Amino acid sequence: MTKNIDPVLKEIAAIFNNAGKEIYLVGGAVRDMLMGKKIHDWDLATDASPEEVTAVMRSNKGKVIPTGIKHGTVTVLYKNKSCEVTTFRTESDYSDGRRPDKVSYAATIEEDLSRRDFTMNAIALSLPSCKVVDPFNGAKDIKSELIRCVGEAAQRFNEDGLRPLRAVRFASQLGFIIEQETLDAIPGALSVCEKVSWERVRDEIDKILASSLPSQGFNLMRETGLLKLFIPELERCFGVEQKGFHEFDVFGHSLLACDYAAANNFSRELRLAALFHDIGKPDVRALDKTSGVYTFYRHEEVSADMNRTIMERLKYPNAVIDKVCHLVKEHMFLYTDEWSNAAVRRFIARIGEDNLDDIYRLRRADIYGFSGRNPDYRSIEKLVDRVNKILKEGSAFTIKNLAIGGNDLMAAGIPGGKILGVILKELLETVLDDPAQNTPEKLLEIAGRIFKERG
Ligand code: ATP
Ligand code: MG
Repeated sequence: MTKNIDPVLKEIAAIFNNAGKEIYLVGGAVRDMLMGKKIHDWDLATDASPEEVTAVMRSNKGKVIPTGIKHGTVTVLYKNKSCEVTTFRTESDYSDGRRPDKVSYAATIEEDLSRRDFTMNAIALSLPSCKVVDPFNGAKDIKSELIRCVGEAAQRFNEDGLRPLRAVRFASQLGFIIEQETLDAIPGALSVCEKVSWERVRDEIDKILASSLPSQGFNLMRETGLLKLFIPELERCFGVEQKGFHEFDVFGHSLLACDYAAANNFSRELRLAALFHDIGKPDVRALDKTSGVYTFYRHEEVSADMNRTIMERLKYPNAVIDKVCHLVKEHMFLYTDEWSNAAVRRFIARIGEDNLDDIYRLRRADIYGFSGRNPDYRSIEKLVDRVNKILKEGSAFTIKNLAIGGNDLMAAGIPGGKILGVILKELLETVLDDPAQNTPEKLLEIAGRIFKERG
């Protein structure tokens, strides 16, 4: 294992040791190392106080930034490497289940490890000797692929309500099983989980989405009651049958679509869109009496609205929300060879050129979710061909790309204001119908006519 340690990290360790201080690699880095994975961030723990860390590194040409000084953490930059160094901590007094009331420093690495969440995350590697400190048998649990709380699960969950969601997230990320006592303690901790900030919840949900099989995390969230707490709209999809359409209920179908997005390395936006694309279905489901099948009219619009509510609650950035909602709202196109060229151009204009690849991807995920077997993507492939042919023609698909703009209209005597927008919109419709109309002369003539009728 020693050979995996970055030489710069060994140099940093030597600096601490020369100053008479202990330093350990801790957290995810040790877990990943024991699992033979690549290490992405270096988290270090030391008995030196943040002031001592700062002094010792600065006198050895290191840079120190007080990134999390409240929690005893500083970021050390040394020879182009960056690592987080945290003074041994104990977290004793929790009164609100959100975060410790105060952070006090601990004397030993063992004490520091005892405040960590899971045994697999409570292993330290002494540097530079690489001696393993593993008081809770985390290495054994990693081998057995088990997520187990350090100490008594119910108490540990009571201290910090994010931990149950972290357990589920790690299960999804690592493909591990949550040990029984730890799993059984989750439902009893839900009232504490409720107090956790939405940003922290969102970060864990993002990590579930980023895992290779997100369904594992969302199924566990549902089974433990966490889904009802954080995304009740998705929980409601469970058991909503879609006979006549799909063999899966809306929940199962959404998870399959999301797994497809993950398996194909799709973006965070697409994974969210796949998960939430049908979330409005329970609200619009109706039984067609004559055929005996369910219908879900306009579910894409209802789903897009609900998406916004969910994603705003989870504090996603507005740009992410807008993109996901747009994809969800437009996911229901059903291409046939009967589409006219004008219909294809309208499709491009509605989706937006930049979103075309993503809407095809979402549709593929949706189709995959019908059965999870032998999906038939031929209609998408045909649409892609048609769209690409039309794009080559170089026509205008947005108002910005019309042969004339608002200024040209005003120069021709049309006043500014609302009418200008109405005219430009209609000009675009005309050009989508017939690209040959996209010349300044023709558009000005049409604009004059519209103005006469409506101005
Ligand atoms: P990742 O690969 O996601 O970074 P990680 O294990 O490094 O996984 P972090 O959130 O970076 O997770 O936390 C670093 C370490 O801090 C954890 O391994 C764990 O020891 C400890 N830790 C983090 N969050 C908590 C928490 N809520 N309660 C207790 N210990 C925690
Ligand atoms: Mg980490």
